[in-house]
Amino acid sequence: MRNVIIVGSGCAGNTAAIYTARAGLNPLVMIGHEPGGQLSVTSMVENFPGFPEGVNGPDLVENMKKQAENFGAEYLWGTVAEADLSKRPFRLRVDEEWYEAEALIIASGASARWLGLPNEQLLIGHGVSSCATCDGAFYKDRKIMVIGGGDSAMEEAMFLTRFGSEVTLVHRRDRFRASKIMLERAQAHPKIKFLLNTVVQDVYDPHKKCVTGVTLKDTVTGRVWEQEVDGFFVAIGHIPNTKPFVGQIDLDPDGYILSKGGARTNVEGVFHAGDVQDRNYRQAITAAGAGCMAAIEAERFLAGHEGH
Ligand SMILES: Cc1cc2nc3c(=O)[nH]c(=O)nc-3n(C[C@H](O)[C@H](O)[C@H](O)COP(=O)(O)OP(=O)(O)OC[C@H]3O[C@@H](n4cnc5c(N)ncnc54)[C@H](O)[C@@H]3O)c2cc1C
Repeated sequence: MRNVIIVGSGCAGNTAAIYTARAGLNPLVMIGHEPGGQLSVTSMVENFPGFPEGVNGPDLVENMKKQAENFGAEYLWGTVAEADLSKRPFRLRVDEEWYEAEALIIASGASARWLGLPNEQLLIGHGVSSCATCDGAFYKDRKIMVIGGGDSAMEEAMFLTRFGSEVTLVHRRDRFRASKIMLERAQAHPKIKFLLNTVVQDVYDPHKKCVTGVTLKDTVTGRVWEQEVDGFFVAIGHIPNTKPFVGQIDLDPDGYILSKGGARTNVEGVFHAGDVQDRNYRQAITAAGAGCMAAIEAERFLAGHEGH
């Protein structure tokens, strides 16, 4: 039985861990499938306050974890598969083990969205990727394709120019969700070519266990053609990691946690933090700030209940 369990070890979960640990609540952090969260798969973070020269993303989250551990936070390897939030103590299952807590902070972030192409899943790890930082170096002097029209697609494409001989950015529309500055940077890069109003029909070749090319379709003219590609990076957004909480707390139609103000969910004693609730800002600093808010609210909630 814990005072507080924190689900997720990204910026939000680690910040909540620092605050709750420092408040003497001895939090347990469930690390999940992505230790350190999304920042663990990026390189330089230039917009986190306090680092005039920028900071390496994995170093930043690792330091947050160490800071929380210095105050007594404990980290548990594993992913929450099931939750019972119908009454306190709240119960969470990791593998076959159930853990109980008086307060819960959900900071489980969001996972990459895939295109749903017939061969896509067969080629993940064999040329299909959602993480340029993890896999970009495999494609030195090779042909790279990035799918998407938002900031992450621009960022992935820019990052991949370090490795690829060329980077083709495929977007199904001719308008972009990306911010003006990110789009302009990508458009100005000599290695990045844009294919607009274009969709991918499939990626090949699962029999060879590597990506050799794609079939593309121009949505305006209907033209279908094949293009050689070695690395295929999908950057079309994320899905909130709320599966274990479906039916337990209020979620919006896309699965993001619905906030009841501050860091509160509709269940008293269950708080949200970071990208799992935030579809708007999705930044390391806002996730960290949300982790702080959730921790303070959890602390006050526990202080108002017997035994705390
Ligand atoms: C490539 C890339 C580059 C970025 N660059 C920047 C940048 O330069 N500056 C910036 O401010 N932001 C950047 N971001 C955004 C930033 O990383 C996110 O906004 C931030 O990481 C969100 O933090 P979070 O803690 O809410 O979620 P996440 O970082 O997504 O962490 C979620 C955590 O929850 C865990 N989890 C999920 N499900 C479960 C479960 N069932 N049980 C237990 N644990 C679970 C995961 O393992 C993970 O540890 C970038 C993101 C990406 C993908």
